[in-house]
Amino acid sequence: MLHRLLAGLTLGGALLLGPAALAQKTYLHCGRLLDMRQDRAQTEMTVVVENGRVVAVERGYTTPATGRDNVVDLKNRTVLPGLIDCHVHLEGETSKDNYLKEFTQNPADVAFGSLEHARKTLLAGFTTVRDLGGSGVNLALRNAINRGQVVGPRIFTAGKAISGTGGHMDPTNGYRLDLMGMPGPAEGVANGPDQGRQAVREQYKRGADLIKIASTGGVLSVAKDGSAPQFTEEEIRAVVQAARDLGLNVACHAHGAEGMKRAIRAGVTSIEHGTLMDDETIQLMKKHGTWYVPTITAGKSVADSATKNPNYYPPLVTPKALAIGPKLQGTFGRAYKAGVKIAFGTDASVFRHGVNAFEFRYMVEAGMPPLQALRAATVNAAELLGQSPALGTLEPGKLADVVAVEGDPVQDINAMQRVRFVMKQGVVYRQE
Ligand SMILES: [Zn+2]
Repeated sequence: MLHRLLAGLTLGGALLLGPAALAQKTYLHCGRLLDMRQDRAQTEMTVVVENGRVVAVERGYTTPATGRDNVVDLKNRTVLPGLIDCHVHLEGETSKDNYLKEFTQNPADVAFGSLEHARKTLLAGFTTVRDLGGSGVNLALRNAINRGQVVGPRIFTAGKAISGTGGHMDPTNGYRLDLMGMPGPAEGVANGPDQGRQAVREQYKRGADLIKIASTGGVLSVAKDGSAPQFTEEEIRAVVQAARDLGLNVACHAHGAEGMKRAIRAGVTSIEHGTLMDDETIQLMKKHGTWYVPTITAGKSVADSATKNPNYYPPLVTPKALAIGPKLQGTFGRAYKAGVKIAFGTDASVFRHGVNAFEFRYMVEAGMPPLQALRAATVNAAELLGQSPALGTLEPGKLADVVAVEGDPVQDINAMQRVRFVMKQGVVYRQE
């Protein structure tokens, strides 16, 4: 299997075509299988893969009919569908000098950096991600991965995220005016419904799979407030309508309750972070069927960095990191118990890529049973992405995205940090 991967890499564009061209079957012998179709594990199962898809899930260890087929021994592993992180930023990664990078990195530098982030994410078992905003390099990264030119997860990307002037996604916040210019809708900065619509259409034109907006302030932007509303409800409605017309969902960054309520009423698909969610917001999310993507790891990580080193972030950012970061896990626990729909998301980039599975532990600590946390990263995440026919469970017809971990994550969720096997669309990227 590994030599097939190497052959695919060598041939570049042949990577995705490789398994189809070979027309081999791969038999995954699974000691324990969580196919996520049912809420329990099955033991001694075989998942049969052909042409990048699952073609059968069978009881017992099935052996191939011909010598051309492969058998992968996962008898000492728990096998699950490929994991999905609904909130990452593959272009960047936190560091103390991150804010300088606005001035020191050209798009090509960002692109080369993103390759390592993408590779780490895939090898950690995350075969699909939603990239919720960058400079636009994330669009090219998605395309390069789809072409088989570089190794990474399947990406659904928002391109450049959208907010108002001075808002969380205004990339010029905190910098010298004459150096940064005045970004507009083409750069993801929009004021008023008309510019909101233009900003959406700009991202659509560049190839975005969805739209990301910020309806409140955020922690890491160089601005004073991290939670007050930054779009009117009218502005958000215009964005959502323009996106819907183009078949795109809208993910909304929000920390404060007022900005969340405006966004939920305006029809966004998901609330990201949702830190200061009150009971009224929770009820509104249930009423509208709005998804919640918690990103607990990011909250813990920014609070941790700001505590350990008071100079890690710029002076305007540190108090926000300390005030908002530690609250996310408690909010998640309340939202889960109240019955809000939850999809797994971490905000990887705020912390280092490849440790996304920490989020599982934090979800379980907050009161979510392990199986539900796994469901959030598979079945639920696929539904949020609109990809349920292809992703989220292991069953005939779906893409062969498969991970195997050491141990039983239903008994000990930390097993999700011990990924030993990763297959994406029938191609093996990791096997230990
Ligand atoms: Zn984010």
